[in-house]
Amino acid sequence: MNISFDQAEALRDCRVCPQRTIARMSELVGRGVHFGETVRMRVLPAPPHTGIVFVRIDLPGAPEIPANFESLAQEDLLRRTTLRWHEAEVHTVEHFLAAAYVLGITNLRIELDGSELPFLDGSAQPFAQFLLDAGVAEQEATIETCAPSRPLAFRFDHAEIVAMPATDFRVTFFFSSENPLLRTQSATFVVTPESFIREIAPARTFAFFHEIESLRRRGLIRGGSLASAVVIGRKAILNNELRYSDEPVRHKILDFIGDLALLGKPVVGHFLAWRSGHRANAAFVRFLRKEFEK
Ligand SMILES: [Zn+2]
Repeated sequence: MNISFDQAEALRDCRVCPQRTIARMSELVGRGVHFGETVRMRVLPAPPHTGIVFVRIDLPGAPEIPANFESLAQEDLLRRTTLRWHEAEVHTVEHFLAAAYVLGITNLRIELDGSELPFLDGSAQPFAQFLLDAGVAEQEATIETCAPSRPLAFRFDHAEIVAMPATDFRVTFFFSSENPLLRTQSATFVVTPESFIREIAPARTFAFFHEIESLRRRGLIRGGSLASAVVIGRKAILNNELRYSDEPVRHKILDFIGDLALLGKPVVGHFLAWRSGHRANAAFVRFLRKEFEK
């Protein structure tokens, strides 16, 4: 449903959501996909107005890395989203952040004994389940949502992203590939906790078979295995059955939501993205922040 810009302006002024955290501390252990370390992730409830904060307990002084656009590393976004605050880094945060964002969780302390989040099955489903099992708890404080009050268009390399006023949070993604198995895929979802868990969170990372060797040479996907990604050849999916016939584009939506989470506030609007990836998403988040501050 489209709404007038005046209505959108009014929505922007009045929409607030409760802040949320988790009810109890929970732990998850798994291997990071790029650097291959086994990482223990301890997720703790945090007070209102904390935001989502990663803590590298393996480093001297246990430095904190806030999950927001200010800590988004610009130069290092090949195949993952990296956050950096001063010298401390945390990699591959996007699937966890997507799950927390859609569940409306705004405050968490996440202690890590390594530099990368566990990759698990390459989707956000285990993270969504983990957070639901930890219990989503509403807090006394509120947080304002942000929303585009007029259509905004953004370009970055070959990617284009448009943000439109809307009454809900909606993502449409257009993905195209030379690969004959994929060609063009598009999908659109109104993003709610229910639709996310059913339609988006289970979509796994995908990689093209011909890229795997070059990613390995660059020191990436050292922890990757056939259990943690869909590997796509020119004629067939090489390792397993797809969870959805359009699983790759759904994963692109998942990554987009995880990057949008770095806005640090819930968002209302319809986002349409063409050929976007982590670098374009990161640049878009910065662009959007500036727009929302005007
Ligand atoms: Zn991803």
